[in-house]
Amino acid sequence: MEHELMIYNTLKREKERFIPLHSPFVGMYVCGPTVYGDAHLGHARAAITFDVLFRYLCYLGYKVRYVRNITDVGHLVDDADEGEDKIARVAKTRQLEPMEIARHYTIGYHKNMEQLNTLPPAIEPLASGHIIEQQQFIKQIIANGFAYENDGNVYFDVKNYNRQHGYGKLSGRKIDELESNTRKLDGQETKRDPLDFALWKKAAPGHLMHWPSPWGEGFPGWHVECSCMSQKYLGETFDIHGGGLDLIFPHHECEIAQSVAANKQEAVRYWMHNNLITVNGQKMGKSKGNFITLDQLFSGESDALEQAYSPMTTRFFILQAHYRSPLDFSNDALKAARKGYDRLLSAIVALDKIAPSSTGNQVEDAEIEALEQTCREALDDDLNTPVLLSRLFDGTHLIYNIMAGTRGISPGNLARLQQLYHGIVIDILGLKQETTSDTMLLGKVLDILMEVRGKAREGKDWATSDRIRDELKQAGITIKDTKEGYEWHVGNDS
Ligand code: ZN
Repeated sequence: MEHELMIYNTLKREKERFIPLHSPFVGMYVCGPTVYGDAHLGHARAAITFDVLFRYLCYLGYKVRYVRNITDVGHLVDDADEGEDKIARVAKTRQLEPMEIARHYTIGYHKNMEQLNTLPPAIEPLASGHIIEQQQFIKQIIANGFAYENDGNVYFDVKNYNRQHGYGKLSGRKIDELESNTRKLDGQETKRDPLDFALWKKAAPGHLMHWPSPWGEGFPGWHVECSCMSQKYLGETFDIHGGGLDLIFPHHECEIAQSVAANKQEAVRYWMHNNLITVNGQKMGKSKGNFITLDQLFSGESDALEQAYSPMTTRFFILQAHYRSPLDFSNDALKAARKGYDRLLSAIVALDKIAPSSTGNQVEDAEIEALEQTCREALDDDLNTPVLLSRLFDGTHLIYNIMAGTRGISPGNLARLQQLYHGIVIDILGLKQETTSDTMLLGKVLDILMEVRGKAREGKDWATSDRIRDELKQAGITIKDTKEGYEWHVGNDS
């Protein structure tokens, strides 16, 4: 495999050449959503980032086992050991089973991810489906002396671990700093030290999700699921672990400690983290009221949105920034993304219509080679999609010149150019021709026509009103009057 894919390893804080443990097999684990609410822009960025990596690795010829979990238990409201389970809290307010909540939002997440054209992972394990494995994993950590049980809870002994292996290497946090930032124990708690984190929590009376365990009825801690499920499906050591920047601490820091404590070796070779999305410069958060769900974005139904933005517009918007850079949402940025997307995709449509021609200034082999090479270089440079897009836009000038006849191209070079654009834009960047925007546009035109028709009917101008209906029917669009207004569909009713 002739390539030099460099990826930024958060743990080493530098770009490293990607060399799989067992080429051509690659193990890749990405932290998936905690399913207690609608998927939002943050979910889209993480999913698209690792989708592009997955697609590129496959394109390079690797056989990737892509695992992304669903957190349906154990993720507490404060991301630490106190507070309610996020899913159980929603279940209580709606008087539903926690599994109904988890299922509902998992289905929504899958729908949104398909709209965004992300490829599904090969394995999508649920935390609640791996309780026995998590208990085994915890037992191993206790046996190795890095965890202790107290009153039905099991905690990870951070200080003991720190003495032997050093805690905080991923996030760069030091034990003393962490200590001064952690509140003191109030005497009611069962932890020995405020830095310790829960591997297993005792279920308080009324707690909705709990399982029997050697330590009594309880539920697993959030961090333990990812260590345990990645190990189950990818082995004790594997290539890539990804997730959002906000997961570095405590989630991924704790995962490293758990794996070393259980198996005496680190599990992950390359830690990769995507940056977050801000909204008009502000961190996105439910409490801030600037939270944009993907359903809102695609339908335009939110005060923050001037219009609807399609899934491919959203995907293009995310790809325009490097995954490690911050990305700010604004209506203007989304509108600009739509223009860019249209420009790129129409170039591909044009490219597919071009015929080889021996007249005009001939495109040379070297021009095509240079374009291929600069595109590959951008991808190999830690998936630099903004640079890649600008290279692809450079190439569109060539495409339009060939179309205009000022440049000629041989059948061989034309095939190479088509292969390059299809391979990169469609297969790796995962952008596809979008029909939904056409449908939306048609809907808007019909709204205007229907308004005109309504006015005509009010004025008893039956000729105009019938003409609109009949001509639309001839064009293959059926209109039906309803109580609320009208309905339309493409196709004629028999
Ligand atoms: Zn995780």
